[in-house]
Amino acid sequence: MIRIILFLWQLPQNVIGFLIARIERAVKRTDFKTTYYATSFPGPFMKRCAVSLGDFIIIDSFVATEQNVRHERGHQIQSRILGPLYLLVIGIPSIIGNVIDRVAHKGWSPQKSEQWYYSLPWEHWADSLGKVRR
Ligand SMILES: [Zn+2]
Repeated sequence: MIRIILFLWQLPQNVIGFLIARIERAVKRTDFKTTYYATSFPGPFMKRCAVSLGDFIIIDSFVATEQNVRHERGHQIQSRILGPLYLLVIGIPSIIGNVIDRVAHKGWSPQKSEQWYYSLPWEHWADSLGKVRR
């Protein structure tokens, strides 16, 4: 029963997550005490990317490190907390943060970029929930 309630509470992100997992032909896997969907041959969305959409954590196998999986697990917990607000409060800011980083930080070192990105409040919160230390 709780699974159904949680699924409906996170319905928008679950629908999108389900579709992306299908499109990317991602395969269910459990590592680091986290169930996620790994894609070995990422398609249009997931090249070198990871995303958490409700029940679906989807990761390019190439970047499925413990740190990344746990970070996405943190986003998954945010989704359970925020429910229908998740895409608004976490999803959209994450996309904007990604775009800013890619466009405006071209001259930055990967370390500096990473430090900036994960200091954004919604990313820092995901790290805390996923018990990621950087
Ligand atoms: Zn994140």
